[in-house]
Amino acid sequence: MAEVRRQCRCLLKEAGEAEMAAIIADYVAGLDDSVRTAEDDYRARLAVCGTCDQLMNGTCRLCGCYVETRAAKRGLSCPMVPPRWTKIDH
Ligand code: SF4
Repeated sequence: MAEVRRQCRCLLKEAGEAEMAAIIADYVAGLDDSVRTAEDDYRARLAVCGTCDQLMNGTCRLCGCYVETRAAKRGLSCPMVPPRWTKIDH
């Protein structure tokens, strides 16, 4: 019988996807400072994603990205129109 996965509006680390969450945390930590979102901005972006109907098991249903990776790059923005969080220029 196939495993039934629970659908949730949550980040990977909250979705019981510990192994993938660890891989993504390593990826984010390895981003160059010139592209990585500052920690406070990163948390703020993820807080917004956490209230969004498009978030499903850590993935944005509009772009297909893991939000923990998309939010980690300050030059990217939320794909919603209008975006719920925007590119950071500084
Ligand atoms: S639409 Fe924007 S706010 Fe919603 S999950 Fe995707 S990136 Fe996050």
